[in-house]
Amino acid sequence: MDEDDTSRGDNRRDGAASDGDAESAELSAEDIDIQASIGPDTDVPEETDLDQHKDPDVGLDKVVLNDDDESKGLFDDLLAGEPIFENKEVLRPSYTPHELPHRTDQINQMATILVSALRGETPSNILIYGKTGTGKTASAKFVSQELESTSQKYDVPCEVEYINCEVTDTQYRVLAQLANKFIEKNVERIEAELDRLDEMRTRATEDPNALAETPYNSIAEIDERADELSEDADEMETVPMTGWPTDRVYTTFFDAVDYKERVVVIMLDEIDKLVEKSGDDTLYNLSRMNSELANSRISIMGISNDLKFTDFLDPRVKSSLGEEEIVFPPYDANQLRDILQHRADVAFKSGALTDDVIPLCAAFAAQEHGDARRALDLLRTAGELAERGQADTVEEAHVRQAQDKIELDRVVEVVRTLPTQSKIVLFAIILLEKNGVRNINTGEVFNIYKRLCEEIDADILTQRRVTDLISELDMLGIVNAVVVSKGRYGRTKEISLSVPIDETEAVLLTDSRLGDIESAQPFVQARFDN
Ligand code: ADP
Ligand code: MG
Repeated sequence: MDEDDTSRGDNRRDGAASDGDAESAELSAEDIDIQASIGPDTDVPEETDLDQHKDPDVGLDKVVLNDDDESKGLFDDLLAGEPIFENKEVLRPSYTPHELPHRTDQINQMATILVSALRGETPSNILIYGKTGTGKTASAKFVSQELESTSQKYDVPCEVEYINCEVTDTQYRVLAQLANKFIEKNVERIEAELDRLDEMRTRATEDPNALAETPYNSIAEIDERADELSEDADEMETVPMTGWPTDRVYTTFFDAVDYKERVVVIMLDEIDKLVEKSGDDTLYNLSRMNSELANSRISIMGISNDLKFTDFLDPRVKSSLGEEEIVFPPYDANQLRDILQHRADVAFKSGALTDDVIPLCAAFAAQEHGDARRALDLLRTAGELAERGQADTVEEAHVRQAQDKIELDRVVEVVRTLPTQSKIVLFAIILLEKNGVRNINTGEVFNIYKRLCEEIDADILTQRRVTDLISELDMLGIVNAVVVSKGRYGRTKEISLSVPIDETEAVLLTDSRLGDIESAQPFVQARFDN
C-alpha cells in the first residue's frame, strides 16, 4: 500500500496522472507535507494550492519559484488574490433594489393613495419629505414600476413619468421633457393603430365580410381614420431643448397628455431644487391642469430633501401639492445594518466580511443623519480598499480608511466648487498656517487676502465681507472659527483649518486663477519675514 501511494504521488508530479477528481479523493500524506512546506503565506487559498499539486507540471520547486516566473503579466497578481466581491454593482447608487427593508409603511402609504389611478380616478397629489439617503427615490421608483406593471396587467390606462429636477431644473425643461415623452408614446400608439388598420384593410379587400368584425362600415371609413391618425402624428412636433416660448411648450405638453384618456402620475424628484432654481411656476401650472384637461388627469408626486421648501411656495400651490404628505425618517444604525446585510449577501463572497464591518459602516452612516447611500458607499469603498491591499477579508480598518477617503473626497469637491473669492480667503488661511501662525484672527486673514487679490488682479472685498466668507467656510466644515474675547480689546475670531492642508492647497491651485498665486508665494513669504 505504501509503495502504491508513493508511486502515485510521483506519477502525479511526473505528469502521468491526469484525472483531477480521482486524485483529490485520494489525497495522500505527501500532498499535505508539500502544502505545509510551502509556508503560511500560501496556505490560505487552499484549493488553489491543491489544484496546482494536481497539475502534472507543477512540483514543489515550481510552486515556490512561481513568483519569479517571467511569463507572469501585469494582472496576474491582481487576479490571483481571492476576490472580495461577488457582485459589486449591487452596492452602487445606480442599482435599484427589489427589496426595501424598513420602508414598508411608506411604500404602502404611497400605494394606498396611487391605487385610485388604477380605478381610473385621480389620485391625490403627494409630497414626500426626507433627508438624502433615506430611500425616497428607491421607494418611489419601486412603486412606479409596480403601478405600471399592474396597469398593464389589468389593461387600465395609467402612466408614470419620473423626472429628476436636479438635472431638469427649469420650467421649460420639465415641460419639454414631459411633452416629448407623451408625444413619443402617442406616436407609438398611432403607429401601432395604423398597422392594425392596414391589416384590416387588406382583409376587407379580400373578403368584404371581414368588415363586420370591425367598427368600420367601409374601406373608405378605414382610410379616413388612417388619414386622421397620420395627420395627428404629423402635428405632434417634438419640443426643442431651447427656443420656444414657454406657453407654447406648455400647450404642446397639455395637448399631448390629453390626446387620450389616461391617468398620469408625474414624479418630480428633488423638487426643491426646481423651486430653488426656477420658482414655483411649473408646479402652479401643473397643479391647475386637471380643471382644463378633457380626457386625462394628472397627479403630482413631489419628492424633497428639504423639509422647509414649501415655505417658498404660493399658498395655492402649497395646499394643492401637499394634499398627502409622507415622511421618510432617517434610518437608525440597526436599520442600516439590515439594509447593508441584504446587499452584502449578494455583493460579497461569503466570508469576505469580518463581523465588525457592517455594524461599523452602519454606525458611521447613522451619525451622518441615517444616510443609506453613505452606508453603502462606505461598504463598497472598504471592500475596494481591501481588494487593492490584496487582503483576504474586509476588516474594521478598511472601513475607517474608507470613512477618511470619502470625507476627503467630499472636502475636495466642496473646495473645488467654492467661488473664487472664498478660495482666496481659504488660501490666505492656508498660507498663515503653513507659516506657523497660530491663533489666526480675521485681520491677519484679511491682510494676506488683500495681498493675494493684488497678485492675481481680483476684486478686493471689504473686511466685513471677508468675515462673512470665513463664516461660510466654517459652516461648510472647512475651517473652524471660534469667537474669543480679548478683554478690553473686544472680541475676535480665531480661525484654524479643519481639513488636510496639503490636499486642500493642491485643490485650490488647480483653479486657473489661483494657480498664478504659486509664483506669488515668495512675495507673501517676505511679509512674514518682516
Ligand atoms: P434618497 O432618494 O432619499 O436620497 P435613495 O432612495 O437614493 O435615497 O437611497 C440611497 C441609496 O440607499 C440607494 O442606493 C438605495 O438603493 C439605498 N437604500 C435606501 N433605502 C433602502 C432600503 N430601505 N433598503 C435597501 N436599500 C436602500
Ligand atoms: Mg433621491
